[in-house]
Amino acid sequence: MELIPHVIDGEEIDSGGRFDTVDPYTRQPWAHVALGGADEASRAVAAARRAFDTGPWPRLGFTERGAILHRLADLMERHAEELALADTTDMGKPLRETKGHDVPRSALNFRFFADHARLAAGEALPMDSGHHAYTRFEPAGVVAAIAPWNFPLMLETWKVAPALAWGNTVVLKPAEDTPASATILARLALEAGMPPGVLNVVHGYGPDSAGQALTEDPRVDRITFTGESGTGRTIARAAAANLTPVSLELGGKGANLVFADADLDTAVDWSIRAIFSNAGQVCLAGSRLYVQRPVYDEFLDRFVAAAEALVIGDPKDPATGLGPLASEEHYRKVRGYVEGVPGDGGKLRTGGLGDGWVVRPTVVVDAPATARVCREEVFGPVVVVHPFDTEAEAVALANDTPYGLNAMLFTENLSRAHRVAAALRAGTVWANCFFVRDLRAPFGGVGDSGVGREGGTFSREFFTEPKAVIMAIEQG
Ligand code: NAD
Repeated sequence: MELIPHVIDGEEIDSGGRFDTVDPYTRQPWAHVALGGADEASRAVAAARRAFDTGPWPRLGFTERGAILHRLADLMERHAEELALADTTDMGKPLRETKGHDVPRSALNFRFFADHARLAAGEALPMDSGHHAYTRFEPAGVVAAIAPWNFPLMLETWKVAPALAWGNTVVLKPAEDTPASATILARLALEAGMPPGVLNVVHGYGPDSAGQALTEDPRVDRITFTGESGTGRTIARAAAANLTPVSLELGGKGANLVFADADLDTAVDWSIRAIFSNAGQVCLAGSRLYVQRPVYDEFLDRFVAAAEALVIGDPKDPATGLGPLASEEHYRKVRGYVEGVPGDGGKLRTGGLGDGWVVRPTVVVDAPATARVCREEVFGPVVVVHPFDTEAEAVALANDTPYGLNAMLFTENLSRAHRVAAALRAGTVWANCFFVRDLRAPFGGVGDSGVGREGGTFSREFFTEPKAVIMAIEQG
C-alpha cells in the first residue's frame, strides 16, 4: 500500500508512526498514513513561522502571489482525476460529485481569493482635523487550518486559499479519515512555485494528537476550524489560552420549508439534493422538511418516489448517486438514529439500512419534535418530514433549533420569500434553490453552527490584521 506523508517545509516526511485510511466501499485499508503528533505539529508550525517571518511569501505583491495561486489552480485542474479519486476512495463520496463539483470548486477557491485579494481596496477616511486616515490589511501570520472529512479538498481549500492569498503561511491538518488529497495539494503547491514552509500538511487525529497541538501552539496567529459543534467548543477553549482568534464553521440541522404555492418540481428536485447528496454528510443538509398541509401528501409521494429512484452503489461508478457512509464509526452513529426512530414514536416511510456501511435514503414521518432524529445533527441520508399550516408556524418550526447554519424555502410568492428569508435565524437562506454559492457572500452560522463568517471580505477580515494609519497633513 502507498504511504501518505506529511509535507513540512517542502519535504515529504514519514514520521514513523502510522495509521491506515479505509475505503468505505470495500471496507478495506487502501493506504498507510504518517501519524503526526505534537512533535510533527510543532515542526510544521516552526516551518510556517520561519516562512512567514523571514521568507518571501508575505512580502510578494498580490500579483506575484496570485500568479502562483492561479498556477496551483491550473495544476489541480490537470490532476482533477487524481484528486477526485483520493477523496472518493477516502470517504465513499460518488466520483461524479468529487470530480464534477468538489475539485473544480477547490481550484476556483484559489482563483477567486487570488483575484479578490489583488483587487481589494482599503478605505480612505478624510478627517476634519488636518489629518488623513486610511486602512491597510496586513497578513495575520501563521494559520492553523483544521478540516473535516465530508468535503475534504473543498473545505481545506476554502481555508487555505484566502489565508495564502492574503500573505499568511499555513499548517493544514486534514481529517484523519480523509488525508490523501491534502498531501497531493501540498505537492502541487510546491510544483506551482510556492516556497517551502508556506503550505505544510500534518496528518493525525484531534484530541491528544496533531490537531490539539496546533490549537495550543502560541506561535499560531489564527485557527480556522470546520467540524462538529462540540469540537468547536474545545478548540475555542484552547485558543482562548493564547487569545488566538478563531473562526468556527460547525454543525447544522437545516430547515426546508415548502409552501403550498411552490413549484413542486423545483421543490422536490432541490429537496432531494439537499438531503441525499454526499449521503447527507453535509453541514448544510436540509434535514428537517416542513411542507404546507394542502400539498403535503402530493409532495411526500413525489419526494419518496425520487428518493427511492436514487442509484446506490460503487462510488467510482458514474451512475452512482449515493455511496456508503464515510467510516464504520460514522455508519454506527447514523444507524443508531435510524434504529431509534420507532422507539421515539416516528415511522420510516422509506429507507433504512443497506449493505455494508450504506444507509438508504430514509424519510421519517410522524416523529415528535422532541425525538433525537428531529433535534440532533444526524449527518446522514435521513430527513424528518412534518406538515404545517401557516407561515408563522413554519418560521417558528424552522427556528426551533440550537443550530442556525442555513435554511431553504420554496414559494412562488415573492413577498413571502423575502419576508420568510428575513425571519429565519440562519447564516444562509436559499429561496427556490440550494447550495448555490457566491464566494463574496458571508458564509457561517448562528448559535451552535459557528462563530464568525468567511468568504470575500469576511475572509479578509479574519486572515489579516486590519490596520489604521493616521497621517498629519501640514497646513499651508
Ligand atoms: P470533527 O469535529 O470530529 O473533526 C473535524 C476536525 O477536527 C478533524 O480534522 C479532527 O481530527 C479535528 N479535531 C477533533 N478534535 C480536535 C481537538 N480537540 N483539537 C483539534 N482538532 C480536533 O468533525 P467531522 O466529523 O470531521 O466533521 C463533521 C462535522 O463537521 C459535522 O458536524 C458537520 O456539520 C460539520 N461541518 C460544518 C461545516 C460548516 O461549514 N459549517 C462544513 C462541513 C462540516
